[in-house]
Amino acid sequence: MVNFAERMNDIKASDIRELLALVNKPEIISFAGGLPAPELFPVDKIKAATDAVMDENGRAALQYGPTDGLLRLREQIADRLLAKNGIHTDPEHIIMTAGSQQGLDFAARLFVNPGDYVLMESPSYLGAINAFKLSQPRFKEVPTDDGGMIMEELDKILATTENVKMIYVIPDFQNPSGRTWSLERRKKFMEIVNKYEVIVLEDNPYGELRYKGEYLPSLKSMDTKGLVVYLGTFSKILAPGYRLAWMCASKEIIEKINLIAQAAVLQTSTVTMMVVSKFIDMFDLDAHVETVRAVYEHRCNVMMDAMAKYFPKEVKYTVPDGGLFTWAELPDYIDTKVMATQALAQNVAYVPGIGFFPNGNNHHCMRLNYSCMPDERIEEGIKRLAKVIESNLK
Ligand code: PMP
Repeated sequence: MVNFAERMNDIKASDIRELLALVNKPEIISFAGGLPAPELFPVDKIKAATDAVMDENGRAALQYGPTDGLLRLREQIADRLLAKNGIHTDPEHIIMTAGSQQGLDFAARLFVNPGDYVLMESPSYLGAINAFKLSQPRFKEVPTDDGGMIMEELDKILATTENVKMIYVIPDFQNPSGRTWSLERRKKFMEIVNKYEVIVLEDNPYGELRYKGEYLPSLKSMDTKGLVVYLGTFSKILAPGYRLAWMCASKEIIEKINLIAQAAVLQTSTVTMMVVSKFIDMFDLDAHVETVRAVYEHRCNVMMDAMAKYFPKEVKYTVPDGGLFTWAELPDYIDTKVMATQALAQNVAYVPGIGFFPNGNNHHCMRLNYSCMPDERIEEGIKRLAKVIESNLK
């Protein structure tokens, strides 16, 4: 038997991955993934940007580069952070990573010792739970309602828990719940965080995909004490295949992340950074995001209409203001993991909610994604799923 490190004890294949292996068949209507719609990738423009990089600067593009990442791209990101997220920053406070997923790993390595507490919304992003587990923390789930994290509960937990090293949050169109925090909650959150001086990891991959309601400032834009580490990514606004994202934080934190990045990967891919930077110089990224946003908004509406029409009244679900997901809560006697097999028999897939709870004690929820299916399939899939749910009602 192979003698693996202790940190592997709690690491196992996720339900999503096991499920996605099954749902690649064309007949399956899949609400299980969280992928951007591939037909929207700007392939021709990316080809033009790549050609331009190779023609103008091919040798530099293929060479090693600094660990922080391409300066020009970090300038472009700093401009975008101000325009889109109200964050006043500069390239010195930004480091590039291979997806936000790597940022989650780096943050946990920087702040969390084995046995320390990480607080998360209940539910929260499965990929973050797994990334953090490698640092062997204990988790506390902060209760949520339709408006996201409940601040009184957070205050209570912080008042009574020692060694809380990090609070991980997704205030905009959360994965998996689709919920968004109000401005009041954001302000209250920062008040509490400032009181206890805890590090916050604000993950915002979906912020630019807003379908309704007002723009709300990021937590990072309200951070006066350098406590918030902000994660942004090109995955949902351009293409996840590039694995290109960034962390924005205080200089002190970025310098330490730089050391971790040097040890882990040396740097993020030079050619990727140069092509994305060129894409932003040559084309209108905002216009591209608007195209994508409009398609997802439409698909979201199709799913919401279908749920309103077909789902039994016992099911409660999020009507999201943006992002890629909705979250349904079924009566608590229904186990959505068991039900997933019944749904698959009807060629419909979703992700059972259990994996999104770090302490794993919730069986009656499910995450549904609407970004990847055409209208008719969304409607048909929800109709079939509604029947499966009905057959489980008491
Ligand atoms: N955070 C959240 C909340 C996500 O939903 C995802 C992707 N599904 C990630 C991080 C990872 O994204 P990236 O492609 O930038 O690694």
